[in-house]
Amino acid sequence: MIEVIAGIDIGGTKIAIALEKLNGERIAVRRLPTGVENGPYSIIETVLRTIDEMLAETGARLVSIGICCPSPLDVENGLIMSPSNLMDWENFPIVKLFQDRFGVAVVLENDANAAALGEHVYGAGSGYRNIVYVTVSTGIGGGIIINGEIYHGVNTAAGEMGHTIVQPDGTRCNCGSVGCLETICSGTHIARRTRERLAFGEPSLINDLAESGEVTAEMIVEAVRQKDRVAVEIWEETCHFLAIGIGNIITLLAPEAVVIGGGIASAGGLLFMPLRRLVPQFVSMLPAEKINIMPAELGSESGVCGALVLAKRAYSKTYQYAA
Ligand SMILES: [Zn+2]
Repeated sequence: MIEVIAGIDIGGTKIAIALEKLNGERIAVRRLPTGVENGPYSIIETVLRTIDEMLAETGARLVSIGICCPSPLDVENGLIMSPSNLMDWENFPIVKLFQDRFGVAVVLENDANAAALGEHVYGAGSGYRNIVYVTVSTGIGGGIIINGEIYHGVNTAAGEMGHTIVQPDGTRCNCGSVGCLETICSGTHIARRTRERLAFGEPSLINDLAESGEVTAEMIVEAVRQKDRVAVEIWEETCHFLAIGIGNIITLLAPEAVVIGGGIASAGGLLFMPLRRLVPQFVSMLPAEKINIMPAELGSESGVCGALVLAKRAYSKTYQYAA
């Protein structure tokens, strides 16, 4: 019977499940809507049943499981605490539910750390020992990989670069601090800053793009491509502060690469060209040409890839102890 590991990425809107042989060959993938309104027990029961089906279809035997989901988590006790996009998951014993059902090693990790590990092993960060992964989408998060391993820190809270402060007299953040990187450069706040500009009645293409709905970061990127003045100024400011945030990360950790993912990274050259020019201005302790600032390669797959890496590592550990 073939042995497989499972990687599971539980998000606020979607769940991805992948089965992989120990040689890395992926033999089954399923994607489900999360359906948060159904509550955690019903959702996890659906995931457990789906894995049963996938195992039955492939005739495989499960040997370990990696799970990633939004923070905050209690990784050591295998609990989901209370992520803002997974309501009612307070102290949810996700690891125990999977262990009870399958009787194999189960590892839990937050989604940004798993994505960092996925990019490190399979994506843009492969070949480097130390990388920092930054995800810029509705919020800003990240993960730190040191010598190929996730650096967790106290409370598994390392890597929260979205809440490093870059403008102490700026906007109050959801976290309680003022002027977090996220309050300027996340998709949510790029849109907020743009709305505030447009409220003064400045002419802008964004008014036409947003005619029948809300201003989004994607619209602003589109307007930047069309050289709209308001959009270009908002974007320049975004790149400036993101460069400060990334520069600080580089000064602190001197990673070989900074990998940037999330929706905003899909702006491509519009983001990476200014960042590669600006970041060195905020880094004095190491030569600019050593800083690799690159787009993530795995897109929405990064979490599930990282979960698979965790599952594989958990299995090799139990195998070692058994032998
Ligand atoms: Zn914050």
